[in-house]
Amino acid sequence: MRQVAGKRALITAAAAGIGRVVAETLLDEGAHVHVCDIDSDGLAAFAAARRGLGTTVADVSKEDDVDRLFDEAAAHLGGLDILINNAGIAGPAGPIEALDLEAWRLTLAVNLDGTFLCCRRAVPMLKEAGGGVIVNMSSTAGLFGYPRRSPYASAKWAIIGLTKTLAMELGPFGIRVNAICPGAVAGDRIERVIEAAAASRGVSLEVVRNSYLRQTSMRTFVDAEDVAATIVFLCSAAAARISGQALAVDGHTEGLGDD
Ligand code: NAD
Repeated sequence: MRQVAGKRALITAAAAGIGRVVAETLLDEGAHVHVCDIDSDGLAAFAAARRGLGTTVADVSKEDDVDRLFDEAAAHLGGLDILINNAGIAGPAGPIEALDLEAWRLTLAVNLDGTFLCCRRAVPMLKEAGGGVIVNMSSTAGLFGYPRRSPYASAKWAIIGLTKTLAMELGPFGIRVNAICPGAVAGDRIERVIEAAAASRGVSLEVVRNSYLRQTSMRTFVDAEDVAATIVFLCSAAAARISGQALAVDGHTEGLGDD
């Protein structure tokens, strides 16, 4: 079923990782797609692979970049029906007393300020379209405490607060706002997170990997395709009455402790 065919979608941080899989899935479903990333080479490679894809090199934490992104997306798409705020960085790993203020601020800036800046520009376009959908990327870290990742967990909790508030503000305009909370997604990023956690805790990669797997009832990491399928569902008519939710896609996380 081509549930989002013809819809105009903007996805942030889509040169690689989950964002790229989401963008590919929406394109496959017949949506018109514009993406941004800080990685100009990655964006160029993606654009070369997919005809019709619009791209903008932009850092979502920078106001001027986001303004340029939305100007270019509006010119390319002619309007907006869907915003996927995917951009986010893992930030530093370590106990709070060892964390650097600049690293804390950068984590909040990309994850939270970026979501705010993109929502602020998207909302007038979604209102003009007569309604629409925003999906914000939180994490299971936005549902649990996350030892040694306090900036990331704080940003992802804040994204859920922003999501629920915007769902209230924008519901009367037919704009649905939901957050997605993936568990650890298989791929390069989780490998980097595992390496950072292993270094921070002074244990092997296997110890960290197994402790992550034991955090879920299904003893599994998540595939980016699982996240993309859930986003397509949230953007579809099947989710027409779903707003203000934080939806976990995680094999059921039982907790995010270290052990
Ligand atoms: P990733 O580290 O693979 O990065 C994806 C892309 O983000 C890269 O192309 C990178 O260049 C781009 N990017 C980084 N900073 C940017 C910025 N300031 N502006 C624009 N683009 C930027 O990330 P991912 O694993 O695909 O994660 C995507 C989202 O999903 C993030 O919000 C992340 O927090 C969330 N998430 C990821 C996991 C996981 O296990 N990977 C789990 C839960 C939630």
